[in-house]
Amino acid sequence: MTPAEADAFASASAAYVHIPFCSSVCPYCDFAVVAGRDDLIDRYVDGLISEIQRSETWRPLDAVYFGGGTPSHVPPRALGKILAALSNVHGIADGAEISMEANPEDFAFDRARLLRRLGFNRVSFGAQSFDSEVLVSLGRRHDSDQIERSFWAARIAGFDNLSADLIFGTPGESAASWSDSLESATELGPDHVSCYSLTVERGTPLGRAVSAGADAPDPDLQADMYESAQRVLGDAGFTQYEVSNWAKPGSECRYNLTVWAQGEYLAYGNGAHGHRAGVRYRNVRRIDAYLAAVEGGESPLSGSEEAEGWDAEVERMFVGLRRVAGIENGPGVEALLGSEDGRRLSEAGVIVHGNGRLRVARPLLTDEVNRSVLDLDAPEGWAEDGAVDNVRPNRDS
Ligand code: SF4
Repeated sequence: MTPAEADAFASASAAYVHIPFCSSVCPYCDFAVVAGRDDLIDRYVDGLISEIQRSETWRPLDAVYFGGGTPSHVPPRALGKILAALSNVHGIADGAEISMEANPEDFAFDRARLLRRLGFNRVSFGAQSFDSEVLVSLGRRHDSDQIERSFWAARIAGFDNLSADLIFGTPGESAASWSDSLESATELGPDHVSCYSLTVERGTPLGRAVSAGADAPDPDLQADMYESAQRVLGDAGFTQYEVSNWAKPGSECRYNLTVWAQGEYLAYGNGAHGHRAGVRYRNVRRIDAYLAAVEGGESPLSGSEEAEGWDAEVERMFVGLRRVAGIENGPGVEALLGSEDGRRLSEAGVIVHGNGRLRVARPLLTDEVNRSVLDLDAPEGWAEDGAVDNVRPNRDS
């Protein structure tokens, strides 16, 4: 993917739909999810549809992403009704990417076939690992056989764009186990692979366990595992296009590319984040508050910010530098290159400037680059309002 192709997603139109239901809550998860509340599924789906129907008609969507939570935990026909509502209100562009997250344990062939017929054309499987002990530590309910079966069910049902999401650095996971998971994932022949390091979030069961003395992920081992992912996936014909994402040519996730290019995306559901007409907004996080709003005919919006001036420039760097394509020159790039941090990162080959762009040449160190970006002082005459702290795109589970 050329930088110009990556930048072109700035004018794409996308939508994110949040499905918060899960069979159980994984110990590391800090997303807006509920478990054991399947009694709310019908009400929630009706609420989502009414939120969609109340929104102002926009333009045909190039990419729709059902994330969660676990979209595959909800009956396919309910997902189809939500998709139909989006199509009725905004339209769906020809050839649009219609993507959903799925857990391997609930993606049998009949369900896959129905979802394909309803219009879904991309599935992102929460495989996480092929090591049964690691899966148990992560609180996952599937095993490696189910990952394989769900993949083949999707392929046979006609999905030609499949992703495997993996997590590395779970305490107890060895480098060899991670390599085996990478090999097993590539043997399935996915079109796309995402690799996320396990992070310890405050307020989660994992966060509490680590505070009480349990093993935390080892950052040095995670760095080695990241580099082995780069090697194995590169050898298997995948191209890295973002810090955590690799794809076969043409199979990059268009919804995510829109977010990283600072394009516009609508957001529906509890805890969902959107970006439209220069405004970043988010819905209420709790499902009961969301239902109360939409069932009462009110907006579930909980807040919004308009990034302007220097904050908009910092946001452009913060989001855009996640991409291997990097970003075009601008005042922030100039300020970073002129700063002590920027010179150090440049001399170490972490950032590379050329052909009118800045990019991170060592994606493993993107967080360090972003810390330097956030530390930059606004040049004289640029307003700063702190809105960048609120950028939190929706992401895969
Ligand atoms: S990690 Fe995924 S499957 Fe687990 S609770 Fe969170 S959203 Fe649900």
